[in-house]
Amino acid sequence: MNLKIAIIGSGPSAFYTAQSLLKKNIDSEIDIIEKLFCPYGLIRYGVAPDHQNTKNVSRVFERVLNNTNVEFFGGIEINESPTVDEIMEIYDAVVIASGMAKDRKLNINEESKTGYFGATQFVNWYNGHPEYQNLKPNLNTDSAIIIGNGNVAIDCARILVKTINELEDTDITKTAINSLKKSSIKNVYIIGRRGPLDAKFTTVEIREMDELSDCDSILSKGTIDKIDKKLMGDGMAKQYRILTSFNEEKPIDSIKSKTVKFKFHLSPKEFIGEEKISGLKFINNLNPDEELEVIDAGIVISAIGYQGDKLAGVISDELGKIIHKDNVIKDRLYTAGWISRGPSGVIGTNKHDGSKVANHIENNVISKNSPGRIALKSLLKLKNKRYVSKEEWIKLDQEEIKRGSKGSPRLKFTSHSEVFNFLDSI
Ligand code: NAP
Repeated sequence: MNLKIAIIGSGPSAFYTAQSLLKKNIDSEIDIIEKLFCPYGLIRYGVAPDHQNTKNVSRVFERVLNNTNVEFFGGIEINESPTVDEIMEIYDAVVIASGMAKDRKLNINEESKTGYFGATQFVNWYNGHPEYQNLKPNLNTDSAIIIGNGNVAIDCARILVKTINELEDTDITKTAINSLKKSSIKNVYIIGRRGPLDAKFTTVEIREMDELSDCDSILSKGTIDKIDKKLMGDGMAKQYRILTSFNEEKPIDSIKSKTVKFKFHLSPKEFIGEEKISGLKFINNLNPDEELEVIDAGIVISAIGYQGDKLAGVISDELGKIIHKDNVIKDRLYTAGWISRGPSGVIGTNKHDGSKVANHIENNVISKNSPGRIALKSLLKLKNKRYVSKEEWIKLDQEEIKRGSKGSPRLKFTSHSEVFNFLDSI
């Protein structure tokens, strides 16, 4: 019956969907359509460069991509042109797995302040995302503030305080390494709006903060006194045990040059500085009537969660989450991953979504002899859109690996023009 299936997006949920479909041995042609020139989404641009083991899941996805029934269309954004409706017309089933890649807003006076970044901007910058290479964060400041108590906040802090030695065998960009080499940041504040036992850090990530070669992690003074001691009993989860075991002062004999200080019960209220940030004022959530607490810093990163881009022709909520029922948007149109359930969970959480969508397709989609791939190629030609094919991506991948040096796994291409110039030159 040869089903023609299009998957929009190429991150974990897209690949887990394709993998589940392949495992079912459905006679199908699967096309993965991606806005960027390269596959793997969050694995390539979200996961921190010093977490190469986590990135290794892309080997599983590589095997999916290498399947002869799967093709890749990189550099094609499905939204205004082509639209989801146009893709629906030429495929039997379409899966939207486009992820969430925008920062949630703080909704204070952050707009157009120099020195303020959302975490997705900062993370995408050091990970080489083509749209963020002009970010130029000014690291020529003593202190940085990171708002949020999730793993993204920890990732940003770790990158700011690791030594260059600790980062050189990663795939962080050369631009980021050069900026970090010149960085004068000595203090990083990680700010939670609730207490330490409400933080969302996971065990591995918080433990890493205790193992940095040139940085001490400490709690702000009085943190432990404010915790309800009943909650600190035997059953306390490992991540909180580690977090609450940090000192409340930098050890006097420490020779480490940097400090990460975890502060809690503070909500950002107002940036200080006209155009360029010089600090941030916070409300103390335990004593809201108290005077605002001021922390001086030349760079502020908010890591308070992601939101999705609205997609023409699909209904989403205010955070960009697609409205659906059990991953079904409507007949023949499905959704998986963060864009369907919000930005939470680990990479493997997306497996479940992938298999649910594959079940729906297996049970409910009947081939209507859609043209699929051949029609997509014609449509893109008509719209004058050049795409990166699977064969071309394999060449880019090999070139990136070849360009890596000094233990670094790869040196990424960081712009579409660089990619197409390379492809034209071979
Ligand atoms: P997250 O885990 O949801 O953490 C968001 C943090 O921002 C929370 O502490 C939240 O506080 C806080 N927050 C939200 N709105 C705020 C506001 N207006 N003002 C102040 N604070 C605010 O999100 P994330 O860190 O972006 O991570 C997203 C997902 O990716 C998570 O599932 C995470 O585990 C995963 N991830 C995993 C890794 C890894 O495994 N190494 C790395 C990165 C990301 P409340 O709790 O009070 O709402």
